[in-house]
Amino acid sequence: MNYRHGFHAGNFADVLKHVALVELLRLLTAKDKGLFVLDTHAGAGGYDLVGEQARRTGEAEAGILRLAAADRTGMPPAVARYLAAVAAYDRKFGPPQDALRHYPGSPRLIRAGLRPGDRFVACELHPGAALALKREFAGDRAVEVRHADGYRVLKALLPPPERRGLVLIDPPFEAVDELDRVARALRHGLRRFATGCYAAWYPVKDATAPTLATPPQRTSLVTLDLKLGEAAAPGKLAACGLTVINPPWKFEEAMREALPWVAAHLGRGVSAMVHASPASAPVPARGA
Ligand code: SAM
Repeated sequence: MNYRHGFHAGNFADVLKHVALVELLRLLTAKDKGLFVLDTHAGAGGYDLVGEQARRTGEAEAGILRLAAADRTGMPPAVARYLAAVAAYDRKFGPPQDALRHYPGSPRLIRAGLRPGDRFVACELHPGAALALKREFAGDRAVEVRHADGYRVLKALLPPPERRGLVLIDPPFEAVDELDRVARALRHGLRRFATGCYAAWYPVKDATAPTLATPPQRTSLVTLDLKLGEAAAPGKLAACGLTVINPPWKFEEAMREALPWVAAHLGRGVSAMVHASPASAPVPARGA
């Protein structure tokens, strides 16, 4: 396990994933019923954008830092809410500075979107990141941090007693069979908890390579894709996507509004796509 999210925090992939995550939480907490959230690959919780890891890659500069500095004219509400959540996390460390410094990982964004009574389990397998995550939420009884394999925890905790849930699957894709592991986790999750909302991130390293192997069930699906195009640094990840199964009502609409704006403000040649399959349509097969 060599992956450290600190090298990538706030990059364009985080922007895509986290704009969607903040919106999913908002929509899923609109109903007056308890929500269960599982973050299977949670990372360290929060990141210092001027820390050594972030400075070494500079990836946040083509991601959150560019977006945070953008002219806000016409900014869609979902993007404004994401930036507000990021700024609120940064303010925990002191008054705002000229540039954003502290970036929230998925567990922090999830925590900020929860209501009293909602339940959140965050899993992290890397010992150092798990320790940082435990420290991040020390004393917070709304968050259960597990130093554990997120795929195993998914199997153990679904279906949740709340019967309403969001599962974020965001692995590092170091292992060659990671796509298959994600697909298995989705299949298993859907068998046990068919009405749950699942969001799974995937890298697109080569346009002809399979993206996410999706479950063979009929599910409602929204896929978000973000491609850096000319803005990509040579040899670095240039495109990625997020598959959202059973998205809440209005999610697709919010993303259709948000992502073109995000793409337009991330740089020249950046493009975003939103695809949707209604519940009655078969889910695209692997590589489709
Ligand atoms: N979700 C985080 C966010 O959006 O801020 C970023 C997560 S990062 C892409 C992937 C994380 O998964 C890494 O911190 C890695 O150590 C961890 N990891 C790898 N394999 C795991 C597993 N089987 N179970 C739980 N965590 C794992």
